[in-house]
Amino acid sequence: MHRALADDLARLPELLRSARDLAAKELAGLAERPVAQPGAAPPAVPLPVAGTGGAGALTRFAQRWAPGFSGSAGPRYLGFVTGGATPASVAGDWLTSAYDQNVSGAAGSWAAALEHETVGWLRELFGLGAAHTGAFVTGATVSNTVGLAVGREWLGERLGVDVSRAGVAALGPVDVLSGSPHSSVGKALSVLGIGRDQLRPVPLLEGNREAVDVGALDAALTALGGRPALVVANAGTVNTVDFDDLRAIAALKERHDFWLHVDAAFGAFAALSPAHAPLVAGLDAADSVCVDLHKWLNVPYDAAIQFTRRRDLQVAVFHNASPYLGLPTAEPDFLHLTPENSRRLRALPAWFSLQAYGRDGHREIVERNVALARALGERLDSAPELTLLAPVRLNVVCFTSATGASPERMAALASAVTASGEAFLTPTVYRGTPALRAAFSNWSTTEADVERVAAAVTRAARA
Ligand SMILES: *Cc1c(COP(=O)(O)O)cnc(C)c1O
Repeated sequence: MHRALADDLARLPELLRSARDLAAKELAGLAERPVAQPGAAPPAVPLPVAGTGGAGALTRFAQRWAPGFSGSAGPRYLGFVTGGATPASVAGDWLTSAYDQNVSGAAGSWAAALEHETVGWLRELFGLGAAHTGAFVTGATVSNTVGLAVGREWLGERLGVDVSRAGVAALGPVDVLSGSPHSSVGKALSVLGIGRDQLRPVPLLEGNREAVDVGALDAALTALGGRPALVVANAGTVNTVDFDDLRAIAALKERHDFWLHVDAAFGAFAALSPAHAPLVAGLDAADSVCVDLHKWLNVPYDAAIQFTRRRDLQVAVFHNASPYLGLPTAEPDFLHLTPENSRRLRALPAWFSLQAYGRDGHREIVERNVALARALGERLDSAPELTLLAPVRLNVVCFTSATGASPERMAALASAVTASGEAFLTPTVYRGTPALRAAFSNWSTTEADVERVAAAVTRAARA
């Protein structure tokens, strides 16, 4: 054994304690850490030949790299939709590495059974029925890709071709209909060989809405003349967190032939709050569902879940049968369900958080985030320099300058807020108007944070 490796083996508890001490110190300072690091990263150094041992690696990491890591897991990082990591989920994540299980299959370890238990808990959390089965993937982009891949296979079933064998060309052009799809849907269609250009926008409801006009969707489906299609419904749009009427869309199945995929990356968490659960009523009727977990569940990157009612078609797409891996059975191993073959036990951090805080604890995070978003919305809207572009429907505040918005002005405002070190917001364009978004999804954000964010934004808008 290499000397450095042997030393580390002999002093493993010490190394883990040192890593723990650094993590504890960094997490204790997270709330005051700058939300983004403006400086340039250090230049790359040559590959170490002899190696420093684990303790040396920790020292060099702490010196060279740690100072440049952002506070994106902290309470005032409101860019994109960026959750943090609950204390229990961090512990679960550490143990995921310590046990280093390969959850490709169920043989020889209980790890796959733990993933199944966690999938079941999440299914219940989001109000899905037992007909939905699921698996962990790395993020909502992959979850959308898996859901649409199963939908693609379903189109083959309707048209009498086996897409997984014959290829997507056997389907002819595929129609994909959606109101306000996330950009990752286009990426998924590119990966799946369906093509980004096959995504056809359906008109939205009038009156400052991002939700699809179900009447217009009905008409678009009628125009297909009976050809089966893919419909992507959106439960929580990124700009204004609007929700398609999932029940009404599902009801269209009585008259039209389509696969209903719901992108509920963060919107699914509305189900945790009785006041907001009606927004996702009808989610269970979907054929496939995407939910991100590194956003509003607040587990560390990277984790999401995909659900579908047609595991048989999922196995047709993703099976990886060989003499050494075996054939898919009635309870197919995970390697037959997801793009990955070897898989990290991504379920463990989620299992830890759900075990530690339960449905009630995660409901409290969602409800607090929604209340804080409303509070920030009121603060910003009352500032003469700023105006909201939409009501705060859930956890995102979408606002712009009240005295003329340009992309440059919004970018300057975002940079000034970032430079203050107080908050991090991301620019967007909403209905042609350059704007900024503040998205609340972190478990540790408080009212005091909202005060600081409001102060930083209004100060920057006045300057
Ligand atoms: C964030 C998001 C995605 C993409 O999620 P990743 O985890 O970054 O892949 C897809 N859809 C919606 C609605 C999202 O908010």
